[in-house]
Amino acid sequence: MGMTSNMEIVIILQKLLDNRILTKEEFAYLIDHRDDSIPKLVNGKIAMESPRSILQKRANEIRQSVFGNKIYTRGLIEFTNYCKNNCYYCGIRAGNRNAERYRLTEDEIMDCCQTGYELGFRTFVLQGGEDPYFTDERIAQIVRNIKSIYSDCAVTLSVGEHEIETYRLWKEAGADRYLLRHETANDEHYRILHPEEMSASHRRQCLWNLKSLGYQTGAGFMVGSPGQTSAELAEDLLFLNNLRPEMIGIGPFIHHDQTPFASRPDGTKELTLFLLSILRVMFPKVLLPSTTALGTIAADGREQGILHGANVVMPNLSPVADRKKYSLYEHKICTGEEAAECRSCLANRMHLIGCELAVDRGDYQAS
Ligand code: SAH
Repeated sequence: MGMTSNMEIVIILQKLLDNRILTKEEFAYLIDHRDDSIPKLVNGKIAMESPRSILQKRANEIRQSVFGNKIYTRGLIEFTNYCKNNCYYCGIRAGNRNAERYRLTEDEIMDCCQTGYELGFRTFVLQGGEDPYFTDERIAQIVRNIKSIYSDCAVTLSVGEHEIETYRLWKEAGADRYLLRHETANDEHYRILHPEEMSASHRRQCLWNLKSLGYQTGAGFMVGSPGQTSAELAEDLLFLNNLRPEMIGIGPFIHHDQTPFASRPDGTKELTLFLLSILRVMFPKVLLPSTTALGTIAADGREQGILHGANVVMPNLSPVADRKKYSLYEHKICTGEEAAECRSCLANRMHLIGCELAVDRGDYQAS
């Protein structure tokens, strides 16, 4: 649309601000027209502003009114890069024969927690591939150990799709939260991103199961993944509106050289930030991280994420010796620094935008 103003977009934008939800067609239209111009009066003059800029301001305001200047932190422990799955986008897919595999011992995981605790982390996120070595009972035992020593901390698991009985075992072991991005809510698009043996409906069922067990549950998707259109992004937003997760993780798709998507273009910072703003407007209280992937495609990505409505950062606690091996995508940042350096670097970055890292569990607050 360029400089021509468009009444349709004004109506849709107002509707989103008022109702926090749109139809699929309206969401897709908003995404496609995010850089249109809308007139407004500034000091007696008509000025133009884009829906993108309007939503950023609203999202940042909502973040500040709900969370103040506090940014929640989660200590990320990437404890295994073995994976039985073959997601076409992911660098640690089973089919990547060039990946140097590692798994942390239970002692190493506990060391990460100790370092993290001393640095002020009160949430530990255990993330990994779907590694059969880590049986249901092994993971349950790790959760029990962490919770027995750090009873004031939350434990988040992010280890893929499992049966409801397994999720129940881990919940009873003390796990508080679970991250499982749905990746895409559209079945055909899911098929473009994953091999035959994986299914979108199974992944969604896992999310409903996690919710029913009382986990604070995180869904989400990559922005700009191969084959993704505005219509599919609109479906992702509608799926999230149905699921009503406590956490939503989004970040740009970034190619990895050893995957079938090696030559696909990366997602953009601009669209990721726009979607963060929409999500904050839709879900004022949701826990919304400014992700490492966003920090990887742009030097100021994580700060910008916060300024577009995100309220969580997830620095890495994994041992530096193994960091580079958890390579989901190319050029991942912060693979060379100790946990303490990562934390203080982020604390500085947050200070510069008027925010502060919180030292508490940072649970979802329903009311
Ligand atoms: N095995 C776990 C953890 C997956 S890694 C699970 O299945 O949930 C966490 C997230 O990283 C994935 O859900 C995916 O959305 C994201 N990811 C994987 N490969 C990526 C890539 N190439 N670019 C950006 N994000 C990627």
